Amino acid sequence: QAKESSRGGYRLFEPRLNELALDRMRLESDLRRALERQEFQLHYQPVFTLGDGQLVGAEALLRWTHPERGPVSPAEFIPVAEDSGLIIPIGAWVLEEACRQARAWLDQGLAIGVIAVNVAGLQIQRGDLAETVAAVLARTGLPAERLELEISESYIVRHAERDLRQLARLRELGVALAIDDFGTGQTSLSHLWRLPLSKLKVDRAFIKDLERDAAGATVTRAVIGLGHGLGFVVQAEGVETEGQAAFLKAHGCDLVQGFGFARPMPAADFARRCAEATRGNPGCIAEKPGSP
Ligand code: C2E
Ligand code: MG
Ligand code: MG
Ligand code: MG
Repeated sequence: QAKESSRGGYRLFEPRLNELALDRMRLESDLRRALERQEFQLHYQPVFTLGDGQLVGAEALLRWTHPERGPVSPAEFIPVAEDSGLIIPIGAWVLEEACRQARAWLDQGLAIGVIAVNVAGLQIQRGDLAETVAAVLARTGLPAERLELEISESYIVRHAERDLRQLARLRELGVALAIDDFGTGQTSLSHLWRLPLSKLKVDRAFIKDLERDAAGATVTRAVIGLGHGLGFVVQAEGVETEGQAAFLKAHGCDLVQGFGFARPMPAADFARRCAEATRGNPGCIAEKPGSP
């Protein structure tokens, strides 16, 4: 399409639009090569209990260092990966890398808790995610209960009926399932309780408004109550201030994640934090090397 318009016969796009389309095509072809060129890395953002501040795990977040552009935000490249289907091989790499890393940490005796991996809608839609996960767990030797998969609410809204069995199979494996970015989609509440979920992650949008207006506080309180009512663990994401943390704690939110506690960090830094947490907290027992 871009070619046609540059041939000069007619103009299909405004020049600016053309540029955007070209940018996107370039990004896609660069993304296509990123895996083999080993330009991806995972960072880990710690998750803590609100009650006593114990480190209970981390969310694995994909990082891409483009050879010329430097770091590219997931907000920019994940949608391109989803639209192009590249999220399938990239998502498989993320899963394998997170599980391999988690297993290595357990072998080092680190109390890493549970590692969460984001999965895109397309990975579920394909219908073989449970098999893929089972194979990765077998290959890496990571116990299923160490893995959590995060599924964005925006995806669940569109497809849950069809993919319910897929999710159920993942739960049967022993993997935890979290609904991510909760509150941004339009999940009907009657639908929500039928999903085999273990955790609800309250979207950052609500946390941001907590201290700003009464409505933000009311909605957050209601979402915590809803999650607990359905038997889910409730985790707040994007917690930046002490005020937000205090509010969430007062209203019984179980877990937190956010820049106010810890930013996403390279694997080595997360390992260091786990080691420190274990030393500084005798109640938090490290794993025996080689055991789950
Ligand atoms: P998400 O799954 O909701 O991940 C949380 C995002 O919020 C991360 O952004 C994290 O860095 C950011 N965050 C955490 N705490 C705070 C805070 O206190 N303040 C603010 N302002 N931000 C905070 P990130 O790493 O840029 O990722 C963005 C999104 O990209 C993720 O949102 C997720 O939807 C997607 N993503 C990242 N890695 C993967 C992946 O491996 N696979 C898939 N399918 N999607 C991924
Ligand atoms: Mg997530
Ligand atoms: Mg999230
Ligand atoms: Mg989010």
